[in-house]
Amino acid sequence: MGFEVYKFGGASVQNATGVKNLVEVLRKTEIGDLVIVISAMGKMTNALEDVVAGYFEATLKSDTLELVEAFHHNIALELFENPSAPVFKEIQTLLNELKGFLQRNKSPDYDFVYDQVVCYGELLSTTIVNAYLEQEGYRSTWHDIREYLKTDTSYREGKVNWEVTMRNLSRKLPRKGIQLTQGFIASDANGFSTTLGREGSDYTAAIIAYCLNAERVTIWKDVPGVLSADPRYFEDAVLLNFISYQEAIELAFYGASVIHPKTLQPLQRKEIPLFVKSFLNPENSGTQVSIGQLIEPHVPCYIRKTNQVLIALSSLDFSFMAEENIGEIFKLLGQYKMKVDLIQNSAISFSVCVDNKYKNLEALVVKLRADFKVTVHQDVSLYTLRHATDKALVQLEKNKEVLLKQVMQNTVQLVTL
Ligand code: ADP
Ligand code: ASP
Ligand code: MG
Repeated sequence: MGFEVYKFGGASVQNATGVKNLVEVLRKTEIGDLVIVISAMGKMTNALEDVVAGYFEATLKSDTLELVEAFHHNIALELFENPSAPVFKEIQTLLNELKGFLQRNKSPDYDFVYDQVVCYGELLSTTIVNAYLEQEGYRSTWHDIREYLKTDTSYREGKVNWEVTMRNLSRKLPRKGIQLTQGFIASDANGFSTTLGREGSDYTAAIIAYCLNAERVTIWKDVPGVLSADPRYFEDAVLLNFISYQEAIELAFYGASVIHPKTLQPLQRKEIPLFVKSFLNPENSGTQVSIGQLIEPHVPCYIRKTNQVLIALSSLDFSFMAEENIGEIFKLLGQYKMKVDLIQNSAISFSVCVDNKYKNLEALVVKLRADFKVTVHQDVSLYTLRHATDKALVQLEKNKEVLLKQVMQNTVQLVTL
């Protein structure tokens, strides 16, 4: 068998028990040659985001950084019997590097600073897990993925330079034995850290698999696989045993957050199967994503995205919402980095549901008001129902105030208050 890629997310390594369980997963799945991709532990990316926010408010809450420090140190204390094990020094070296950066930095570029800081979540988690694997008798080699995975300088949303990344990975990353590295992070041509966008570790696993022609990719989650809905919000979600790449791309694109949306296309291109499995029950088959039938079992799938913004626009001068107006609106949406989830237009109105991820809504609305009548509904939810049935739709609409509804073939979208 060729080599595989495993990806462990934040939930799987949120504490010492999680790290121990990761080793259990390796034991139970009888691994061969393997690249292991790991995210930051638990909610450490959020904590590091807070460090960046505090830094820019000029009130660097040193307690946030101390929290990050203590979190990793405590996990290490639980994992390593020997308090003078080299891993403690390695953790400290990374934290000192981070503090050194914050002291020296002169760049006012928020996104640049963000990437130089949040990358430490993954550097710390992989350092700890690698040392633990060694303690448990595994011969695993730690790699700094930033030496392989190259992006442009779009900080916080780095675009992969496929040519250079492919060359680096195929020349330098061994395909024998266990290689362990970070998800989510990368670097630009000047060697500065970049990131691939929140939740981007799944994508890293796919990039490595694509560049090195892996046999398969498994992402280990706290759920049994891809379900027909997020079990946190929908009762009766059922496990999907099989989904095609196409279906998985659609589900992820509409917001099924169990797989990062960018993960699937590289895998589809080379027909590398993706398995989504439970790190608590690694023997179970989970979900397989590959070529073949659309979805099995064939059930309605529900996706919910909260904290969205519905912007409704109409012209000030009775003109129609046609090419020129719409072109202008899209230019502004792009400029203010609004992720568009849904569009609906008629002769005189244009509605768009967006994700205000970069907090640019106010600035965008000021611009739009110069040319349009603008109504904004903040904090709306967007529901997408795929493989909709009448019964599923009635149930979904129950007790909700629907602001907008869009029906396309077998997909229905609702924006609700
Ligand atoms: P990771 O540990 O890799 O970061 P995530 O937390 O990003 O994992 O993804 C797993 C979570 O995705 C689950 O806990 C679940 O709440 C959520 N989720 C959303 N939609 C689905 C779905 N359709 N099927 C399974 N889980 C889903
Ligand atoms: N640690 C990063 C995040 O929380 C990447 C990931 O977990 O996939 O967004
Ligand atoms: Mg995640």
